[in-house]
Amino acid sequence: MSEVHGEGRPENGTLYVVATPIGNLEDITLRALKVLAEADIVAAEDTRNTAILLARHAISKRPVALHEHNEAAMAGKLVHWLREGRSVALVSDAGTPGLSDPGARVVASVRQAGLRVVPIPGPNAAVSAFCASGIPDGRFLYYGYLPARSAARRAAIAGLAALDCALVFYEAPHRILEAVDDLAGTLAEGRTIVIARELTKVYESIERMPLREASEWLRADSNRQRGEFVLIVSGASKQARTKGNEWERILDLLLSELPLAQAVRLTCAATGAKRKAVYERALAAVATANKKE
Ligand code: SAM
Repeated sequence: MSEVHGEGRPENGTLYVVATPIGNLEDITLRALKVLAEADIVAAEDTRNTAILLARHAISKRPVALHEHNEAAMAGKLVHWLREGRSVALVSDAGTPGLSDPGARVVASVRQAGLRVVPIPGPNAAVSAFCASGIPDGRFLYYGYLPARSAARRAAIAGLAALDCALVFYEAPHRILEAVDDLAGTLAEGRTIVIARELTKVYESIERMPLREASEWLRADSNRQRGEFVLIVSGASKQARTKGNEWERILDLLLSELPLAQAVRLTCAATGAKRKAVYERALAAVATANKKE
């Protein structure tokens, strides 16, 4: 087998990381179809889902399961198959494997074994949302899912607050309200959010608004809380970054002299920073200091 990068069949002993549709089944490249049709093995996160995609494109092949719970064990198997000279196509349930999806561990094992990994680019929810968001300057940080628990989520957001690039998050419908509430409550005024829902599907919507208005917008219609979401928040302005650095610096100074509650109260009073964010950072700083001791 030859010509991996051209028109030919998949090469022996090669792992292909294949992007698949995030909704619309027609969003698949010619090269992806060729690799899926001709690879010796298709390893899929959800075999039933992938079987539907394959059937839609007249590919009669039974995928093997490779998901979050068996990825470590399957990594060894895949390396074995590749060493035997077979070609393997790896797909996730939707989009690009390894991005908030299984795949990264397998790829690491295969590369560590000195075997070849070839990406077959295609759909990805973050990039699809970003390219239609109208957020200028083209730079973003891909975060994926925020933590499920509120305190951890707010701490994670506070840690991103000073970045001047856009922030891209994935979110599930049952947590969309909490996540947007915490983004609005933790980040400085003046940010913009783009809520991209059900991309490439029948009810696709991409709405852009001030972050502080997003919770109300979502609550105004329960349909707006349904489906799959990408959230994009514009980066921190120069002014907010300076302000953020200032309160963080003051908090660190006060924490070295005062109890936590007092340090938080004084930081908020002195800088106007949000209590929640200051409190989260203070807790994190104290935890780090305790670990060092
Ligand atoms: N690997 C995928 C990718 O490349 O985008 C992401 C998989 S992750 C398990 C699934 C999450 O991606 C969803 O919860 C949602 O946040 C986002 N997502 C996937 N498909 C989407 C779509 N059609 N519209 C909006 N968000 C989507």
